Amino acid sequence: MIKTAEVVINSGIRNLTDAFTYFIPDQFSYLDTGWRVVVPFGSRQEEGFVVAVRSEPEGRKDELKPIQDVLDDDPWFDDHMMQTARWLSERYLCTLAEAMRLFIPGKKGIRKEKFYYLNANYAGIFNETRTENQAAVLEWFRRQKIVTMRQFQKEFGPEARSLIEELKQRKLVLCSSTVQTARVNKYESELHLALTGEQVTGILPQMERKPAQFRLIQALLTRNLTDADLKEMKVSRQTVKTLVDLEMIKIVRKQVMRDSYQNVAGKYQPVTLSPEQENAVAAIADALSYSRFQSFLLHGITGSGKTEVYIRAVAAVRQAGKQAIVLVPEIALTSQLVQRFKARFANDVVVIHSKLSLNERYDTWQRIREETAGVIIGARSAVFAPAPNLGIIILDEEHEFTYKQEESPYYHTRDVAMTRANLAQAAVVLGSATPAVETFYDALAGRHVLLSLPSRIAGAVLPQVMLVDMREELKKGRRSVLSTQLEGLLRDTIQRGEQAIILLNRRGHSTFVMCRECGHVITCRHCAVALTYHYAAGMMRCHYCDAVEPVPTLCPACRSRYIKFFGTGTQKVEQELQQLFPDCRIVRMDQDTTHGKLAQDAILSDFDAGRYDILLGTQMVAKGHDLQNVTAVGILSVDTILNIPDFRGAERTFALITQAAGRAGRGDKPGKVVVQAYNPEHYAVCAAANQDYSSFYAAEIEFRQKLLYPPFCQLIKCTVAAGMEDTARRKAEQLAAALKSELRPDAGTDIIGPFPAPVLKVKDRYRMIILIKAGNLDTVKEIIRQKNWHTLSDTVFDVSPISVV
Ligand code: ADP
Ligand code: ZN
Ligand code: ZN
Repeated sequence: MIKTAEVVINSGIRNLTDAFTYFIPDQFSYLDTGWRVVVPFGSRQEEGFVVAVRSEPEGRKDELKPIQDVLDDDPWFDDHMMQTARWLSERYLCTLAEAMRLFIPGKKGIRKEKFYYLNANYAGIFNETRTENQAAVLEWFRRQKIVTMRQFQKEFGPEARSLIEELKQRKLVLCSSTVQTARVNKYESELHLALTGEQVTGILPQMERKPAQFRLIQALLTRNLTDADLKEMKVSRQTVKTLVDLEMIKIVRKQVMRDSYQNVAGKYQPVTLSPEQENAVAAIADALSYSRFQSFLLHGITGSGKTEVYIRAVAAVRQAGKQAIVLVPEIALTSQLVQRFKARFANDVVVIHSKLSLNERYDTWQRIREETAGVIIGARSAVFAPAPNLGIIILDEEHEFTYKQEESPYYHTRDVAMTRANLAQAAVVLGSATPAVETFYDALAGRHVLLSLPSRIAGAVLPQVMLVDMREELKKGRRSVLSTQLEGLLRDTIQRGEQAIILLNRRGHSTFVMCRECGHVITCRHCAVALTYHYAAGMMRCHYCDAVEPVPTLCPACRSRYIKFFGTGTQKVEQELQQLFPDCRIVRMDQDTTHGKLAQDAILSDFDAGRYDILLGTQMVAKGHDLQNVTAVGILSVDTILNIPDFRGAERTFALITQAAGRAGRGDKPGKVVVQAYNPEHYAVCAAANQDYSSFYAAEIEFRQKLLYPPFCQLIKCTVAAGMEDTARRKAEQLAAALKSELRPDAGTDIIGPFPAPVLKVKDRYRMIILIKAGNLDTVKEIIRQKNWHTLSDTVFDVSPISVV
């Protein structure tokens, strides 16, 4: 019998669904499920994941290619990771490889490196005419023997690539490639004593005449020394060498863990928990003590001290020797949370985010695996951290849409967290002031234990909210984007030396059509969603049922002529503010001003330090920040999202207003908020102004039930793309027809579309959308898989999409 392995190739190619069988040579006989290997694949070498091993008859050996190499010293995927990956591929219609590579920093575990060397027969052609440059290169090659492109570039600068190409063409230089692990470890040498303390005490007196050696040995008696220490102590290389030669000390190579958060520190101020916090912590700690899967929804208003609850829960997990994953929606949000966790857990904390270098990521992974790091903080992808001993997963601001990955695999972090925790018998804590409707529904149904923090810490009160009807402002002849009330609030605030935040919602701007006179938004008569204005066609279209209508010249509700496409940019608001308040220091934060995490952090910390009076921006300004001197918040035309033709529009609006309003009055001064709306009577706007989640939820869940949206149905969004609009349309129509004919017997499903994506053309591809609505997606997925539609290269299935447009 021989041993064989089923291997999936690590590639994002979606039609590579099958595993391939390879023969396991004797030297790798220990291989089992979960190992990363190098295998021949076509004419190349590729990274593969072993997903099963088998014994097969001897005769099979001749048909099979052997596994060439093994990448790690241990299996990369443990049993739970394998099960999670299989679940992902099942749930989200992706390949097993696509799911497995989520567990690998940088997705690829290998890198292919090219080597260049002199053609052994070059002597014959050596005398050909060549430039001075080429002569120099050849001479260098002769000394170096084998070089990588990187070494070559270091020596010859930007011209290197073209030089090598020339030499390769003339067959003076040859090239071959090898496969290496993507990871490059970092080592540092450390000096250790090679003698016992006793031996040292014996010889020390004789060394007094060699002060440098004496000093070094004496220092080594208390601790090992790094290069940096030696430099500081001004110990010469010669001294070290002499003592090494005498075998009194030795140089030890030690792996260094790269961690750019190493020096982030803060002071932890222990607080006395409020009774509600105490309850929440006790409930979580109780579940932890049974080591059984349990999920919680921590519903706490803004400023109610949720973070402190997380910290205590994590402390309990660490006490029990288990690991914690703490997830945040965006990396800009991490800084405050990281600081608080670092203050409490110091270097037990590791931070994972997309801007870490690949090697730092690998080091972090190693520390998690070896359990030398117990608190893992990160955005979405950190839910895949390879913690072998998981005790809790926390999702802060669990309602945030960034928890959904918007590329294949289209996973939702919350679902992955639940699955992982279930396997590990760990706890899940979902925290939010504005829980996702589906999450709250699940909590009411008993699937999560509901924990509430209904009041702000230390008697701080929720800000006072004023709702301004912008239609009235227009009637009074005020055309500014700032209402009289907001202007007044800003004036008072600045005069008192306090700060203000202004949130402007640019999302969905100018895609919907609204009457400036009465606030009427043109909606589809069949679907209760706003129609989307399509520039190219000059028409409005419903993305749910595909109805098309011309833009009316008069408002259908009030016959006014002020019917407009909606939108105002941050820059315009900034100008207007500056005119109103010439001495005011304004800082703008939006996609245009913030490239990268540092820019955002810098703006926020400058603002916090009082270098600006007003912070103006899009969604980003609304979230998570705990700024003590902010007492005023203005929210402009926030109901614009209501008009995104999406069933989550109201939920989004409610969350955004609540979160933004929650920025005001977090210190000891009370806060005031002005919400400007064209739809002040909409339940999402009213409820948010009253900071009343339960009335919002009651209205929203009724809407979802009436129109059969999640949680009362499940959705798949299918996007078909093609280089030509006609092709995309035709393919989408074919697919929709095929879906309909396959699913006809099943009355519980509904196929909607195809309709064009709101942004029809992206990167020269035209996109058409089909929505599949079903009570249960199992049959639908079964059919898609049977027909292999999910592997079509121009078709994408987004299971449980976060938005339907
Ligand atoms: P949330 O995340 O719920 O909006 P935070 O966790 O940021 O609220 O807490 C708000 C503020 O209250 C923070 O400055 C925090 O340090 C402080 N805080 C939290 N719990 C307590 C407590 N029990 N006693 C005193 N201050 C607290
Ligand atoms: Zn009108
Ligand atoms: Zn419609």
